[in-house]
Amino acid sequence: MHIVFLGTGPSRAIPRKGHRDALCRDARSGGKSRRLRSSALITSGKTTILIDSGPDILKQLKQHKPKQIDAVLLTHGHEDAIDGLKDLDKWLRQQQIPVYTDRLTAQLLTHRFGKFKHLFFSKLKDYSPFKIKQVEVIPFPVLHTQDKRFKTYGYKFGSFCYASDFHELPKRTKTLLKGLNTTILDGAMYLGVKMPTHMSADATVRLASELKARQLILTQSGHTYPPHNQAELAIRRYAKANQLAFPKKIRLAFDGLELKN
Ligand SMILES: [Zn+2]
Ligand SMILES: [Zn+2]
Repeated sequence: MHIVFLGTGPSRAIPRKGHRDALCRDARSGGKSRRLRSSALITSGKTTILIDSGPDILKQLKQHKPKQIDAVLLTHGHEDAIDGLKDLDKWLRQQQIPVYTDRLTAQLLTHRFGKFKHLFFSKLKDYSPFKIKQVEVIPFPVLHTQDKRFKTYGYKFGSFCYASDFHELPKRTKTLLKGLNTTILDGAMYLGVKMPTHMSADATVRLASELKARQLILTQSGHTYPPHNQAELAIRRYAKANQLAFPKKIRLAFDGLELKN
């Protein structure tokens, strides 16, 4: 299985207009701090799965040129995850493909976007595995907003998982995610910076250690971060200082990062 990060940023892309801080300067000068809205492509054999379709989706598809997309998995209905669905629909040349999400999000998106030409919604059930061609996917609920009806998901594929937007994991989700080879998690806020809807890098490291992740990749990194390389080193130092060991190195995702699992 092959993973490409199309975007690893927060709800507003980085760099930001008019900003002269170290993060935006690094992003502008070609460093790894440049971040489009979070999205990923998962490929296994001839199956290609897109996770989220935010406002940067056309730029992301042009850069990575997938030959086809077999399904879209939505994490949730916030704009940074769904605002590019119409663009994706126009970009697609193939027949109908499913967009997996929960019932309420599907209703809201149908109301917002009307009919699609190439996309249709397919309903998820918490922890209920389904197949996209040969690839088995298990959707797991995560806690992201305070509104209990608003659902947010992460996805497990074999020995890796992707959950880009949450502030806490339910107990059953934690059990499902124990001991995976590659654990991709929300690390939206920098070390010690708190936000009610997202994780801080230090909390993500502690959580991944509790999950006994072999490898942790933090994504969704926001504007509270210092430049990428400096942040990645500081997060590794935090883990070491707190005796949170991982068999493989902790990594801070960046746009274009590719992994094999
Ligand atoms: Zn900035
Ligand atoms: Zn969100």
